[in-house]
Amino acid sequence: MNNKMPGLFSSDEQRLWGIVNLPVSRWRLPVMAIHRYTTIFSIFFINLFCSYAMAEDKPLTLVNDNKSSYVIAVPSNAPGSVMDAANDLAYHFKKISGVEIPVINEQQIPKIDTVIYIGCCNAAASGIYPLSSLPPATYVLRSSGNKIYLYGDDTVLDDKYKVERTGTYSAVSMLLEKYLKCRWLMSGELGESIPSQSTVIIPPLNEVHTPVFPVHNIWLDRTNPDEVKWARRMRMGSSYIFDGGHAFENWYDSYGKTKPELFALQKNGTRIPMTPKGAHQCLSNLEIDKIWFSSAYQLLNRRAYQYSVSASFNDAGQEGFCLCKSCRNMDPQGAPAGTYYYGGTYHGEKFQMPAITDRYMIFVNRLADVLNYQWPGKFVAYTAYRNGITPPVAVKPLSNVIVFFAGFSYVDERCRNLSHKYFDGWRNLTEKIIIRPNILHHGAAMPLNYSRKLAEDVNYCADKNIYGFTYDGTPKNWGSGGINYYILARMLDNPQLQYKELFDEYCWRMYGEAASDMIHYYKELELFTNRIASSGNSNGIQTGWGWHMPEYYNDNEINKFCEILNGAKKCARDGKVIERIDLCLMSWEYARRLRDVCAAIRKNGNKDAAKGEMRRLDEWRSMIASSGNKAVDTKRDVWRWSCMRTAAEPSGFWEQIENDSLLPQEY
Ligand SMILES: [Zn+2]
Repeated sequence: MNNKMPGLFSSDEQRLWGIVNLPVSRWRLPVMAIHRYTTIFSIFFINLFCSYAMAEDKPLTLVNDNKSSYVIAVPSNAPGSVMDAANDLAYHFKKISGVEIPVINEQQIPKIDTVIYIGCCNAAASGIYPLSSLPPATYVLRSSGNKIYLYGDDTVLDDKYKVERTGTYSAVSMLLEKYLKCRWLMSGELGESIPSQSTVIIPPLNEVHTPVFPVHNIWLDRTNPDEVKWARRMRMGSSYIFDGGHAFENWYDSYGKTKPELFALQKNGTRIPMTPKGAHQCLSNLEIDKIWFSSAYQLLNRRAYQYSVSASFNDAGQEGFCLCKSCRNMDPQGAPAGTYYYGGTYHGEKFQMPAITDRYMIFVNRLADVLNYQWPGKFVAYTAYRNGITPPVAVKPLSNVIVFFAGFSYVDERCRNLSHKYFDGWRNLTEKIIIRPNILHHGAAMPLNYSRKLAEDVNYCADKNIYGFTYDGTPKNWGSGGINYYILARMLDNPQLQYKELFDEYCWRMYGEAASDMIHYYKELELFTNRIASSGNSNGIQTGWGWHMPEYYNDNEINKFCEILNGAKKCARDGKVIERIDLCLMSWEYARRLRDVCAAIRKNGNKDAAKGEMRRLDEWRSMIASSGNKAVDTKRDVWRWSCMRTAAEPSGFWEQIENDSLLPQEY
């Protein structure tokens, strides 16, 4: 794959490369520029192929009356993802028509022409595409006579950390989705919607696809095979690897004793942070740059595939930033004011100071300038988060700075509106932006439907030529939030899809004969979610959700939703549909029990008051966990913990915190 300097394809280049199915007219693809000579090379082959395929314009019969003469061929040295793709294709044929199509090594293929070549087989390489000249993660669906070629960029970037591109898997899933009408509405077999057909006929194939965004990702549980398979089937991933994580988490442990001057001056005159992991730096100390570079170079030597090295501050976005004179001189007049805490998160001493974005952008630019000289083509990453989320007012990010924008929430309308405003501000300065929301954490796994807003915002940001999206959250609450995950994943693959079609697709494919009732359910759930969002309360995971949630999830609401779901269940005859509705019902049982915990804590002001409710919740969690049920991710403790913590504060506490925030509750 070509790995040159980042640039943009013009629509002409996309057309010349034959990158079809891209929304060329609406935005340019922000990927790496490719040299002209490879372009000419590609045009030659693409033209060759187009004329070839057109000459053989006859449909292919893959299965005829539940019989097939096809075999699936894989190359001898196929990477794991290619073998998985081949097996998944065979699995689907079996489900669709009962036909067993064997998966065999391409060297053992009998002399037949009914072959589906998966991955970069020799047969494919000998007459198909110069894949190496196409953008990373590109994949191809082609046919020639009865032969089918499904292959793509399957580069294994890092075997140890399972960093890989899975182009061939994308080609297989595109075939299944587009021509065999398969859908994967949630992870695991329960989410599969695979229509039966005794005869499968597809048109001749001649398609080249490149992911619309270089980064198009939801953080899934990579240790869970179902989740990994779902991500591949939904064609999510990163064509380019950018890291924007908290960059200084081990600094205090390493240098706190020997070089205290590297760390932020606190209000009490010391340079001791509230927590080592949340320690900030004194950015006017240039030794910071030296240390950062020495580890950045090591990292880039170790992981040549990585495009960015992060200089993002630690996860303490309102606490303990440096108060020394030189650092404060970096804060410009006119930056919005934020509230900062010293000596204790939320309970410490409050202090007003400008947003810290400008001082960080001065620092990040300092690093980017040198990095560009030493490692042209690599980026310094800055995560725009908490009090560093507003766009800088006096400095512009250099061209090799990539900004991870940690905005957007749908449990607070004010947060969403401000996110749009801040995003637009950043976008006026740079297009090298990756949207990185925490929204999938929000709501503590309670039932919510904000799928329409997710789709709207993917479309809104996509329209502005950014580098992509990566959603934190490791979401596995398929009963309470499955509709959000599904529609988001589909939009990341193709942001031109229409929300209404996706919504109908989800409801009809998921719930069949009960779809009308479930459409009603999700519409009501959307109205409910919007009422929470416009309540003006603080609703984030860390802040007032635990306090306010008992008001939203009262018995009337819970009973109303359960009634709709029980009505839907009566219409359902298919066992799978009943099981899926049960996931939603269970998410309300979880909501009821967590609500009871928070209500008891809120009433008494301490956690001990909720021991009985906690026990009821934990019993239920254990029962769900041991059954392997996917309604709510019961292993994830952070939500329960944060709800309990926040419910214990006095009335009005969180409202005040939110009113002081530059971006309410986006954390
Ligand atoms: Zn300082």
